Amino acid sequence: MLLTQGYAAMTAKAALRPFSFERREVGPQDVLITITHCGICHSDIHQARDEWGGSIFPMVPGHEIVGIVAQVGSAVKKNKINDRVGVGCFVDSCRTCPACREGSEQYCEAGMLLTYSGRDKDGQATQGGYSTQIVVDENYVLRIPSALSPAGAAPLLCAGITTYSPLRHWGVGKYHKLAVVGLGGLGHMAVKIASAMGTEVTVLSTSEKKRHDAIRLGASEFALTTQHDTFTRLQRRFDFLLDTVSAPHNYNDYVNLLKTDGTMILVGVPDKPTLLEPFPLILHRRRIAGSVIGGIRETQAMLDFCAPHNIESDVEVIPIQQVNEAYERILKGDVRFRFVIDLGSLK
Ligand code: NAP
Ligand code: ZN
Ligand code: ZN
Repeated sequence: MLLTQGYAAMTAKAALRPFSFERREVGPQDVLITITHCGICHSDIHQARDEWGGSIFPMVPGHEIVGIVAQVGSAVKKNKINDRVGVGCFVDSCRTCPACREGSEQYCEAGMLLTYSGRDKDGQATQGGYSTQIVVDENYVLRIPSALSPAGAAPLLCAGITTYSPLRHWGVGKYHKLAVVGLGGLGHMAVKIASAMGTEVTVLSTSEKKRHDAIRLGASEFALTTQHDTFTRLQRRFDFLLDTVSAPHNYNDYVNLLKTDGTMILVGVPDKPTLLEPFPLILHRRRIAGSVIGGIRETQAMLDFCAPHNIESDVEVIPIQQVNEAYERILKGDVRFRFVIDLGSLK
């Protein structure tokens, strides 16, 4: 077994602290990755605090992983030592169901194996990227294009693909008006990616201080959802809304901003449900939809799209010793726009 250092939440109430654990030996199809960077996703906080239920402790969070290949198994074909690679939110799936066969492993009928807080075939809990190294089957490893910086690329593995995938799925493009709701880690990637696709983007935010950043990132308009006239002024304006908000909020207010046949896509996962009013949906044949991350092929396509468009995450790089402080700052909306842990700090 491979002794690995990380930071873990021991219970849902506890701050993260140093933790040693073992990774499996490198099998024939496996790649051993020395982790250099790992983004902090708001999902890490939801799960480390067991806000969605079903969390497994001790938990080493982290599913925006970038590193260098340190060792490859005898049957590995795509990766070689010293390659810059990434790992996202899942590290395995059944590989045989229709979803897996078409490359939508995130919708695997048997359930994808999460990068952390999952249960591997051998019964062991998976552990994520707030750690020195990880062993992953090469079929679930991504290539990081050399044009991307490792820290700026890490958040693409979750925040990037989570926003890219629904934009592609619903064909959001040049002739559409999109509102991105919430300008956090996911939201800022959505603005960059959608505007690179030629879409006209408006940011709907609770934070006046993000107005300037929204425009710099590529939005053509910014509106405050804390001002109620926003909801009358912008009604029936958008073809799509992409809702990245992490906390409970009233979806019904937002539905009215859609044109007839418009679609509100939920990617943010508040820990409490919202009551839906049927009339605003019925009267304009509107839809509310959801989307979770993206498959391996699509994640690679997203990385290969971001590189020539110079799209990276705006990051604040921190040593792992500051992870608990970073969690508190994310909860206060005090990050522009993603914390990324430099795992060199854990050596
Ligand atoms: P984040 O960086 O904390 O951003 C969330 C943003 O939501 C904040 O920056 C803030 O934007 C807005 N917000 C926060 N509290 C709010 C409130 N009470 N009312 C209205 N707006 C509020 O989080 P993230 O990492 O982008 O993740 C966002 C959500 O997506 C989380 O729930 C996460 O678990 C989920 N997620 C889902 C997937 C998926 O596959 N579907 C993947 C990754 C993450 P403003 O300051 O602009 O208002
Ligand atoms: Zn995530
Ligand atoms: Zn499957």
